[in-house]
Amino acid sequence: MNVQSLTTDILILGAGGAGMFAALHAKKANPDLDVTIAVKGLLGKCGCTRMVQGGYNVALSPQDSVERHFMDTIEGGGWLNDQDLAWLLVDTAPKRIRELETELGCFFDRNPDGTVHQKAFAGQTFDRTVHKGDLTGIEIINRLAEQVWRRNVRRLEDHRALDFIRSTDGSEIAATLMLDMRAGEPLLVRARAVLLATGGGPTMYRYHTPSGDKSCDGLAMALRAGMSLRDIEMVQFHPTGLLAGEGTRMTGTVLEEGLRGSGGYLTDAQGKRFMFEYDARGERATRDIVSRSIMDHIRKGHASPHGGVYIEMGHLGPDRVRREFKGMVERCQDCGFDLAAGRVEVIPTAHYMMGGVVFSADCSTELPRLYAAGEDTGGVHGANRLGGNGVANSTVFGGIAGDVMGSRTAPRGTLPDPDKTAIETAYSRVFSPFSRPRDDLSAMRERLYDIMWNDVGILRSADSLARARAALDSLARDIAECGVGESGHRYNLTWMDRLNLENLTLVSRAIAAAADFRRDSRGAHFREDFPHSSELDASTYTTVRLVDGKPSVAAQPVSFTRVRPGQSLLHQAAE
Ligand SMILES: Cc1cc2nc3c(=O)[nH]c(=O)nc-3n(C[C@H](O)[C@H](O)[C@H](O)COP(=O)(O)OP(=O)(O)OC[C@H]3O[C@@H](n4cnc5c(N)ncnc54)[C@H](O)[C@@H]3O)c2cc1C
Repeated sequence: MNVQSLTTDILILGAGGAGMFAALHAKKANPDLDVTIAVKGLLGKCGCTRMVQGGYNVALSPQDSVERHFMDTIEGGGWLNDQDLAWLLVDTAPKRIRELETELGCFFDRNPDGTVHQKAFAGQTFDRTVHKGDLTGIEIINRLAEQVWRRNVRRLEDHRALDFIRSTDGSEIAATLMLDMRAGEPLLVRARAVLLATGGGPTMYRYHTPSGDKSCDGLAMALRAGMSLRDIEMVQFHPTGLLAGEGTRMTGTVLEEGLRGSGGYLTDAQGKRFMFEYDARGERATRDIVSRSIMDHIRKGHASPHGGVYIEMGHLGPDRVRREFKGMVERCQDCGFDLAAGRVEVIPTAHYMMGGVVFSADCSTELPRLYAAGEDTGGVHGANRLGGNGVANSTVFGGIAGDVMGSRTAPRGTLPDPDKTAIETAYSRVFSPFSRPRDDLSAMRERLYDIMWNDVGILRSADSLARARAALDSLARDIAECGVGESGHRYNLTWMDRLNLENLTLVSRAIAAAADFRRDSRGAHFREDFPHSSELDASTYTTVRLVDGKPSVAAQPVSFTRVRPGQSLLHQAAE
């Protein structure tokens, strides 16, 4: 085993909104720190922050308030949120959006009077979503990347994190084993503080929206390091993924929330609007309700030719639709659909993981020296995330993580020694597939897609979850035995695919176990055998960790630190 080593003060894993904000804030807190950002793709060109279409939720208008944004977030989250984290999100968001505009140079759309334009997003009581047309993420990530390039941050591009390595006494994190994907060689990065910001990403479902580089690596690393994941059963399905037919990567691509927010209709094979049969808010109900309603309607026999439903915008005026949703209209046109005047087939698509690593308001985790931010974390969104709260979450907490790591880390300070046996174990897991003949990875990926879509998807039950858990255990065993043959190590995509599948299957096992454990329906998690929410006052959140290699689930009571079910901060503010 020959492993090169690199030492840095702060190692940031992931270059989305969370990772890049953390790098900039750490440098701001202490410019003398040696900061390294490691990313599985190219900086500024990968991850989901770049893909943000709709926008960024923030209370800016005098008619809106942080309290109102908070209450929308808690009610949307089915009262499972960590309320202090949710408060930190909504309270810091105005500061962060100003930072994006005035320090980083983002241009967001404006009203004729010069104020920032804020649009409607489903599930919210106020139009508070800041945006740049429907390509908001590109604006944010390009400005962030420019600043990271300027600030003397070391970049390790095409480097994937493999495993956390604890210190020799096991009490804290000492290093991260990485893979230089271009050279196919391992690299041990020793750091005084590490940020996990690899952005979750439910790409284990047949239809999914996240970027192809995401395979729940950080969550799998956390599980293997003995850490707990919170609310990992809570997977959000975006109701309107493009259904472009078989054999195209465009299938699953999200058609953004703003379409429904601004008055888009969902219609079935018979051309009938059906959402009001399910919810008084119609198409503007929250994502979980719309996704479930679509699946139910499909099951009742109203499916479109490819097995979905339609979104229609033409009644709003094709010119307006082209103007307000330029990117969406062009993307649909590329696939042969007319969003502005016609109708486009859609299906719910796995979009976001509300669950993730248990973390605190200072972004620290249960493993000393390891911090976490963004979509890799759990607790902020509870059982369901509001559209527009995702990029707010990654930029708010990425910035906080950077501030905290920057102020707590001494340049060239003490550095724990990594446990050599742990390095050997991780190395052997990653490199052993070369000693075995090549297996059919596509067939294994199809198995994973089928299990997760059919049995751990939008509608779940004890039977489906028992089936899924057995099938996932068997798949995990097959993947552990699966080889990549004699192929070389350099930029070996088959090998990367195998590593991705291994991580996705491990996290899928955690999702299925937590979903089986939670015997009520809440937010994104719907059990057909327990279709109602249990008593909100007695709400619990789940935690999953690996015990003897198997997911073990526990329930913890939710602390209503700011508001109890049935109460509202808005009333308290008014009293
Ligand atoms: C199509 C789409 C549209 C969206 N629209 C909106 C919206 O309108 N509003 C909103 O609020 N949210 C939206 N979201 C959600 C939003 O993108 C995420 O909430 C947020 O950007 C996540 O930020 P992050 O920094 O945690 O992760 P990401 O931005 O995904 O970044 C993760 C980074 O980690 C890297 N990485 C992954 N694995 C490894 C590894 N093993 N080693 C090293 N690096 C690794 C990735 O390459 C990437 O650079 C959307 C998501 C999608 C997919």
